[in-house]
Amino acid sequence: MSTTVGTKLVYDFSEGSREMRDLLGGKGANVAEMTRLGLPVPRGFTITTEACMAYLRGGHQLPSGLDAEVDEHLARLEEEAGRRLGDLADPLLVSVRSGAKFSMPGMMDTVLNLGLNDRSVEGLAERTGNPRFAYDSYRRFISMFGDVVAGVDKAAFEHALDEMKEARGASADVDLSADDLRELVARYKEIYERERGEEFPQDPRAQLDAAIRAVFDSWDNRRAQDYRRLNNIPWDLGTAVNVQQMVFGNTGERSGTGVAFTRNNTTGEAGEPFGDFLINAQGEDVVAGIRTPRPLAELATVLPEAYEQLIETMGLLERTYRNMQDVEFTIEDGRLYMLQTRNGQRSAPAMARIAVEMVDEGLVTSDEALRDLVDAEQVRQLLLPQLDVTNAPEPVARGVNASPGAAVGAVVFEADEAERRGKAGERVILVRDETTPDDLHGMIGAQGILTARGGKTSHAAIVAVGMGKPAVTGVSEIEFDMSEGAMSVGGHRIAAGDVITIDGTGGGVFLGEAPLVPPQADNPHLIRILEWADGARRLRVRSNADTPEDAQRAREFGAEGIGLCRTEHMFFTEDRLPIVQEMILAAGEAERLEALARLRPFQEEDFVGILRAMDGLPVTIRLLDPPLHEFLPSLTDLTVSVALQRERGSVDPEDERRLARVQELHELNPMLGMRGCRLAIEWPEVYRMQVAAIVSAALRVREETGTEPQVEIMIPLVAFEDELRILRAEVMAEAERVMEERGGRMDFLVGTMIEVPRAALTAAEIARQADFFSFGTNDLTQTTLAFSRDDAEGKFLTRYLQRNILSANPFETLDVAGVGQLVRMASERARSVVPAIKLGICGEHGGDPASIRFCHEVGLDYVSCSPYRVQIARIAAGQAALAGTPSG
Ligand code: PEP
Ligand code: MG
Repeated sequence: MSTTVGTKLVYDFSEGSREMRDLLGGKGANVAEMTRLGLPVPRGFTITTEACMAYLRGGHQLPSGLDAEVDEHLARLEEEAGRRLGDLADPLLVSVRSGAKFSMPGMMDTVLNLGLNDRSVEGLAERTGNPRFAYDSYRRFISMFGDVVAGVDKAAFEHALDEMKEARGASADVDLSADDLRELVARYKEIYERERGEEFPQDPRAQLDAAIRAVFDSWDNRRAQDYRRLNNIPWDLGTAVNVQQMVFGNTGERSGTGVAFTRNNTTGEAGEPFGDFLINAQGEDVVAGIRTPRPLAELATVLPEAYEQLIETMGLLERTYRNMQDVEFTIEDGRLYMLQTRNGQRSAPAMARIAVEMVDEGLVTSDEALRDLVDAEQVRQLLLPQLDVTNAPEPVARGVNASPGAAVGAVVFEADEAERRGKAGERVILVRDETTPDDLHGMIGAQGILTARGGKTSHAAIVAVGMGKPAVTGVSEIEFDMSEGAMSVGGHRIAAGDVITIDGTGGGVFLGEAPLVPPQADNPHLIRILEWADGARRLRVRSNADTPEDAQRAREFGAEGIGLCRTEHMFFTEDRLPIVQEMILAAGEAERLEALARLRPFQEEDFVGILRAMDGLPVTIRLLDPPLHEFLPSLTDLTVSVALQRERGSVDPEDERRLARVQELHELNPMLGMRGCRLAIEWPEVYRMQVAAIVSAALRVREETGTEPQVEIMIPLVAFEDELRILRAEVMAEAERVMEERGGRMDFLVGTMIEVPRAALTAAEIARQADFFSFGTNDLTQTTLAFSRDDAEGKFLTRYLQRNILSANPFETLDVAGVGQLVRMASERARSVVPAIKLGICGEHGGDPASIRFCHEVGLDYVSCSPYRVQIARIAAGQAALAGTPSG
């Protein structure tokens, strides 16, 4: 079966533009743009992302019509190039490369030098007068095609290359002669035939067909899946395929290849562009870190004309894209070719500096910089710990400072192990010779990455920068001794499991745990960005905080109030938990009141601290919402203990009583059980104690400071108007009583959380009892999807993400299509009854940029998130307000 898409599936580079990323992918759209700008780009064409999705959805059959369109564009390419694919005398060679809408560096597959076979390689040698180059290209093609298209383990090819180098006493592959490479081609073909049970394909059109399919298939490989999940990239975008005439960086000393950034991607510094290059090499050598590249500045002396032209071109690209660019180039016999440009990945400090400096240079306005040059999520990295340089010991080795921040962890040599131990909450440093995209899952699990090879543009560096993880690369002193599970560095032996520290900012590697300093929150570029965001945003940003310390920190990050103070979290400490347990296990009201009386002073002191720290800003205090299983002693432990006591013939009656009570309170679904307002309907004295503590604390703070605290009392897990009506009356009555007793009056609000679908559906009724709503989207997600918050993430939810049933974890990013509808509907219905009702969100989604955008669209008044995400939320709220505004 083949699928019909019914639209144009292939575009010549001259037919596209940078606006066409959806259809042509980032790479295709950008080579088209460079073609339009008249830059030296090798010719070619792009097969669309729609063709890819039709292929993947249609059971891995090429969509009908694709073959014919490829033939047509290939014929045009052959005509323009003056060469034909498979020509025996002068063959056209092409690269076949993936390119999705969002750049996924190295995650998918590329095949270079396609079109070579046993006969055309002779033609290429003849035409160029360079047999060494021809055979080098052919052996590269066989191994890439073998690996990417035919699934032959690339280690087999690498092993044959190493053997050949050893036999010839060659230290690098450039030292091998034409004859050596011819022999290597024969060996590679044998490997291919042995592994595949068929000869290496000789028909170039069949090679092309197979390569196109392989690129489509690579959209679904594990590393692409991992990368998409990490970056919230939807599966159904698909990848485009770019077929481009090859130019060669491996024809000799006047040829080369490299990658470069228009500004320093670690520091953000403008000035000389910066990057790496290799003479006499093809692109994959640089990115894979196989040979250690030279700094770009040296190109000025090696090939000055090409260098000049490159610098000029990069300037033009930066001005065109109005963003820092990351380019790939090849120089063939002294002539420069641009292969790719894209917005460059950058460290968080670089991101902030580039945004500010581009505004100061007049390249973009501050609104554009905020909208287009700032990644809100990346701001978190500015809050990463750094090495305490003044107190750090001498490093045992130095490498390239590839991704900033410092990390401490146990050495792990395998990606699978790093993933496993990382998931178990251990801190590990992944140490590799070099990383490849196959290591991605391990890099995700690790605190930091250390490699023996590669520079700032190696895979390890680029991926680590994107993930915001510290990395040190190119520590050439590392010698691995894998049979012993150890390495030696600077005369020290470090075994798997030994703790080391890496300093991705300075490039040092340290034995043991080196001293770290907390991050600087006063980055001057970040302060400017936050000013832009605060000027643009409509949403207010509050923080979730349960202690005076958290409240203080939240204010330092710019929180404009507390959106959620979870009072049950105040009871988790050693001195309080036993009293809470007594309160819950109490035999009757009298016992419960006695425990509550002992809890009250703790609560009151905490409230005083928080209200003081917030100095007149609004503070939403949620009354007790303890899922009982988090507070009760374990039923199993108690049962075993009492059973053992019975066996011994003497049972502590108090234990027996506790067991009976725990049995009585035990629930199979505690998250759907005696929680929130249900508990207070049963035991109203609990909320009474809390209200008394709140009112007393507020009156005390006002007396002490002269500032009026703004208190908002919040009732959790409401589903019925009557629950709120009853509890609101309790709250008001108790507040009145305390105010009378203390001889002081104060105003405060009473509102509710919207955490269950029924509350959202009946929002118009519930709003009659509420001064405000706060969407508790953690529970609202749990109750709408019927996904247990406590269980789903380790289990089926992971599979749902892998299988693209879900495109993001709904507990991190709000499920706009489902849960979002309830939020929208509840907001509209509530406002139709109480137009001035205050609306906010306090689930984890309140700190997630995509969810914040939705909150802005729905018109909520504020979002509330953890203190460390307050700055992210301020920026995301500013961006949400600017989304969709036109570029100047
Ligand atoms: C929520 O459910 O979204 C919420 C904020 O409350 P909690 O996480 O404490 O249940
Ligand atoms: Mg909740």
